[in-house]
Amino acid sequence: MGEIQYFTSEKIAENSWMIKNNFGDSTPAICYLIEGENYALLIDSIIGIGNLKKFCETLTKKPIKLVNTHAHSDHVGGNFHFEECYMHHRDIGFFQTVMGINKEKVFEITKNMAPEDFREKMVLDDNFADWKPMKTYPVYDGDEFDLGDRIIEVVEVLGHTEGSIVLIDHKTRICYAGDACNSNTLLDLPTSLPVETYYGYLKHLKDHQPEFDMMYCGHEFFKAGVLDEALETVATVLDGTDAKCERIGIMGTPVLYAAEKIKDGYPRVDGKRFNMSYLPDRIKALESTKQIIK
Ligand SMILES: [Zn+2]
Repeated sequence: MGEIQYFTSEKIAENSWMIKNNFGDSTPAICYLIEGENYALLIDSIIGIGNLKKFCETLTKKPIKLVNTHAHSDHVGGNFHFEECYMHHRDIGFFQTVMGINKEKVFEITKNMAPEDFREKMVLDDNFADWKPMKTYPVYDGDEFDLGDRIIEVVEVLGHTEGSIVLIDHKTRICYAGDACNSNTLLDLPTSLPVETYYGYLKHLKDHQPEFDMMYCGHEFFKAGVLDEALETVATVLDGTDAKCERIGIMGTPVLYAAEKIKDGYPRVDGKRFNMSYLPDRIKALESTKQIIK
């Protein structure tokens, strides 16, 4: 690797690190590395700037497995430095849609985002990888990553994408939640699920709430109580009593936010943290189809 530090890390619990890009990440996206006795588990790979695998190898000497909380590009961009990854079976198809960006393009994008003094030193080295199809193993609700001395459990919280999961580390009582439940939970995207469906999965996560104290997400982190704010807020959308706060969504079209935001700003008026964007015609769950095949 060159002399540029593309990443920073911070220890958040026993053998557990939060990793971010050093620059160029406007979101900014966060990923996490958990070291166990037999292997280390990397949860998400952020936006693909820098060789994340090599950086993780400075934190752990164990072999590294990679799991994605969902297939959005700001969570899978670093996947292409790895041989294989795990993700929820319903997001694997969507994952294919981000393929095809070559490393020259990634280099160009990175260079444009880099601070001046970084830019001069940047070369097209192994910090950049082609975004190409890779071996992807499906995970399902209840699956476990057994790291030897710690179990990380997969819990479906579908909604933000069709295949969003959270991962609960039973040893450190941390729930790694991707974009499944945060202050800007986007349910207005083309691949998001209806609000009512999402609410059902939040209740599923509520059953697991006694197992964690913190939620470390893909862009921010919370105490476990943010889940109660989510349940309370999403319920108001279902009964029609939510704030219906009008904003322009990430797709450039009008969306509603369940809780009132401060004028022209991001936080909630009432000081609570959870919020969710949605489209008024995508609240009700879809009717399930039933076949009888004889
Ligand atoms: Zn996302």
